[in-house]
Amino acid sequence: QVEVAMYEAKASGGNNVYFFDPDMLNIVTTRAMMEADMRTGISQEQFILHYQLQVNSAGKIIGAEALLRWQHPEKGMISPAEFIPLAEESGLIIPIGNWVMRTACAQLRAWHQQKETSHLTMSINVSAKQFRQPDFSDIVLHCIDHIGVDARKIKLELTESLLVDNIEETIQKMHLLKAHGVCFSLDDFGTGYSSLSYLKQLPLDQLKIDQSFVKDILINPNDAAITRTIIGLGKSLGLAVIAEGVETETQRLFLQNQDCHAFQGYLFGKPVPELDLTRKFSLSR
Ligand code: C2E
Ligand code: MG
Ligand code: MG
Ligand code: MG
Repeated sequence: QVEVAMYEAKASGGNNVYFFDPDMLNIVTTRAMMEADMRTGISQEQFILHYQLQVNSAGKIIGAEALLRWQHPEKGMISPAEFIPLAEESGLIIPIGNWVMRTACAQLRAWHQQKETSHLTMSINVSAKQFRQPDFSDIVLHCIDHIGVDARKIKLELTESLLVDNIEETIQKMHLLKAHGVCFSLDDFGTGYSSLSYLKQLPLDQLKIDQSFVKDILINPNDAAITRTIIGLGKSLGLAVIAEGVETETQRLFLQNQDCHAFQGYLFGKPVPELDLTRKFSLSR
């Protein structure tokens, strides 16, 4: 039985009757609560970064991706898929995104201070709302400068939908950052709508094959064809290609045989706190 509450409101012009679904009210209150929780989370430093390794075909660690986690005092660890959309809508992604940028840059600088990790790159996810800020480039450059990290080792991960919306402004921002050495990777590549002519115009460095294609690469010929095409496209455009969501050695080998030479996925390690990663580095030394 569907519960429907009826709400009567007497407007000056007469009787207006509104129907609403209590489920709707639940959604709205949950969101409002979560937003308030997120504000508290920011001020109480409940957000943390995990890092996931990226390796080349020789098995050498070449970099890491910073992945945001929310350590909620009651709900435990919350995944970004659950709170990033709301953080975007509420605008809270701006302070959160700035924190991610500072924290990831500081971590990278710390790695660069150790000989065995001095070559690593750091991939940082950037959301549309963050990138659309008029002063986005300045914020990033200021952060890099303030922390004192090598800009050439920073890879900002953007998505297709973000890039094609207002292409002129996008290109301008990217060029400004590129002039200072910052690199760009196109995340979840193949799932969006960017046309090939856009790809040519954008100062990208890397395409990141979406994990949905990698998942069934061995059993679905279409996925295999798509990855092959992306790898070929990267080659023709002079872009590096990395595959995400690589979980098995067979997937890795298949990708490598298609000429993909960088990988990220559970096969090499799940996203982990910095300390675990640092331990891993000292073990592999
Ligand atoms: P993404 O950037 O495409 O990140 C890859 C996601 O795949 C991560 O999920 C990662 O944990 C997961 N993953 C890695 N290897 C494997 C694998 O082998 N198999 C499978 N099944 N999954 C794998 P996560 O950490 O839950 O992040 C989800 C999304 O949230 C990210 O997708 C990214 O779009 C967004 N996100 C994460 N951190 C940030 C951030 O700091 N800022 C912004 N704006 N977005 C972020
Ligand atoms: Mg990413
Ligand atoms: Mg991705
Ligand atoms: Mg994704």
